[in-house]
Amino acid sequence: MNAKSSTRIRLGVVALGKIPEILPKSIAAHISGYLNLNTDVLPSRELPSYAFSRERLQYDAGIILKHLEQEHLPDYEKIVAVVEVDLFVPIFTHVFGEAKQGGKCGLVSVYRLNDEQDDSAPLPPLLLERAAKVSLHETGHLLNLVHCTDERCLMHFSGKLADLDGMPLYFCRYCGAYLRDFLKR
Ligand SMILES: [Zn+2]
Ligand SMILES: [Zn+2]
Repeated sequence: MNAKSSTRIRLGVVALGKIPEILPKSIAAHISGYLNLNTDVLPSRELPSYAFSRERLQYDAGIILKHLEQEHLPDYEKIVAVVEVDLFVPIFTHVFGEAKQGGKCGLVSVYRLNDEQDDSAPLPPLLLERAAKVSLHETGHLLNLVHCTDERCLMHFSGKLADLDGMPLYFCRYCGAYLRDFLKR
């Protein structure tokens, strides 16, 4: 084992609940490709049912993240979980994902990323691209980044699909430089 690979951050991608297998795989491949982290797809786990809000008929992202932080996953410094249910945080009607700056666990929901009408169609490539963007954004938070004012940067906040689709798979030069610096430490 050389020193470089042993200090590289290990990130696990885990599906919570039933999700097409290609989603966590594609997310892990994007995170490893863009950020050069050691990335594994972990066996899926159950979605905590107590995170479901009967008033909102959605899942509370904060409660799922708290649950995830208590799971025993000592081999991974960072975890990105993927769900197929709709997520909210108290101040928003819905979120595509959630992660705390510098936290251990991030969360991505594909619920609102598929606007394809035909349910029988296989996963559209656009869904994989959107899921990759949200995952890279949340991973950016886990690696200490905050939101970026540049609309063409993955760290820009996006609440709508149009925002997400208008954003390339790209960290702006400032966020990119920050990440390179952070990952060198
Ligand atoms: Zn964000
Ligand atoms: Zn940026």
